Amino acid sequence: MNFELDSDQKMWQRIVRDFCDAEVKPYAAEVDETATLHWEAIRRMRDIGLLSMDIPEEYGGIALDTVNIAIAMEELGRACGSTALSVAAHNGLGCAPIARWGTPEQQARYFPQLMDGEHLGALALTEPGAGSDLAGGLRTTAIREGDEWVITGDKAWITNVSLAPVMTVLLKTRPDAGTSGFSMMLVEPETPGVIVHPPEKKMGLRGSPTHMITFDHARVPAENILGEEGRGFQQTMSILDSGRIGIGALSVGLAQAAFEEAVKYAGERRAFGRAIADHQAIQWMIADAALEIDAARLMVYRAAWLKSEGKSFSKQAAMAKLMASEVAERVSRNAIQIHGSYGYSREFPVERIYRDQRLMTIGEGTSEVQRMVIARRVLQEMGDPVAQAENRTPTPA
Ligand SMILES: Cc1cc2nc3c(=O)[nH]c(=O)nc-3n(C[C@H](O)[C@H](O)[C@H](O)COP(=O)(O)OP(=O)(O)OC[C@H]3O[C@@H](n4cnc5c(N)ncnc54)[C@H](O)[C@@H]3O)c2cc1C
Repeated sequence: MNFELDSDQKMWQRIVRDFCDAEVKPYAAEVDETATLHWEAIRRMRDIGLLSMDIPEEYGGIALDTVNIAIAMEELGRACGSTALSVAAHNGLGCAPIARWGTPEQQARYFPQLMDGEHLGALALTEPGAGSDLAGGLRTTAIREGDEWVITGDKAWITNVSLAPVMTVLLKTRPDAGTSGFSMMLVEPETPGVIVHPPEKKMGLRGSPTHMITFDHARVPAENILGEEGRGFQQTMSILDSGRIGIGALSVGLAQAAFEEAVKYAGERRAFGRAIADHQAIQWMIADAALEIDAARLMVYRAAWLKSEGKSFSKQAAMAKLMASEVAERVSRNAIQIHGSYGYSREFPVERIYRDQRLMTIGEGTSEVQRMVIARRVLQEMGDPVAQAENRTPTPA
């Protein structure tokens, strides 16, 4: 067992950290204030591969394994929450489904635009009435008419859709078939009948655009199905499993940024004749943060490693996301506490980090949903005691 990054991973971490320190972090406050991404940085991400981490090399992408993607996401999260979320959604939600299930024609059509530094990708799952319970609440429907699908319905909270050349939409192609009737479909936001509503006014991650979408009899060609018709639910669960590792890494980055700000401030601020870092109550907050960030980072790397090795990783991804997002919340909360009143001011980064991290226990599955995923796996691994008590065949682990 080796807990160290290898030399290539360390080099990649150095490249992304240097880039983020120079091109992303200095603009984080402005991105939040103006609710607009810093496009110069996004364009330059193209050159180091941050926009093509999930795009195959034959299309000019860098097709990284999950450990390297986690390394990049932590560095982006450490620099700017808004930028990190949009880049995470672009790679993990926008590009990954097309890389996994797209036909050569779909990939050739969309990858060049998705990695040109002028666009970001999007995935539309959530609806006004369905978030955690997509299986029970999905309403958006595509009905086949000749060579086209006609789409009606609404999607909510969709990251990047205003910047996307194409989005992947989860919808029903057989409305009466339960989750076996769910499919994924590629839809260009410019399609007549697709209405992208104004950006949501959010508490944090303000630079990352989030929109509601209405499909009012939007027509797309029959060949826009992504992957096999009727497999949309399984595709969604698989993309969310992977996405959780990315959100976990992003959360570690946010926690790390808040931690660094808090330690710096605790060394400078004086109270009762000494630096506040010399007071035991502050040291305990610093110690707890160091401990929890370390644990969260190790869990994220473990889940990423399992996925990179082709092993089962769903439970570990849920655990890593749950742990890291809740650690980010505690660490940024205490970072504000260490700053006192100054932590409550927009002049100090911890105020923004605290607002930004709040999404991490909600997006790509709430903490409650992660606990459901973990518990389900644990019960299966332990021989399904409920089935045994009820004399049913246990669900296989
Ligand atoms: C900034 C931002 C960006 C987003 N980007 C995207 C995106 O790009 N694409 C996309 O598709 N979606 C996106 N989302 C939506 C996000 O994934 C959903 O908000 C999330 O899945 C939760 O769904 P919900 O908001 O409908 O909450 P609900 O499902 O309504 O849940 C409400 C509460 O009930 C709890 N709950 C629900 N069911 C149970 C249960 N069985 N047991 C216990 N508790 C339960 C939840 O944990 C939560 O606390 C984004 C959201 C935000 C805020």
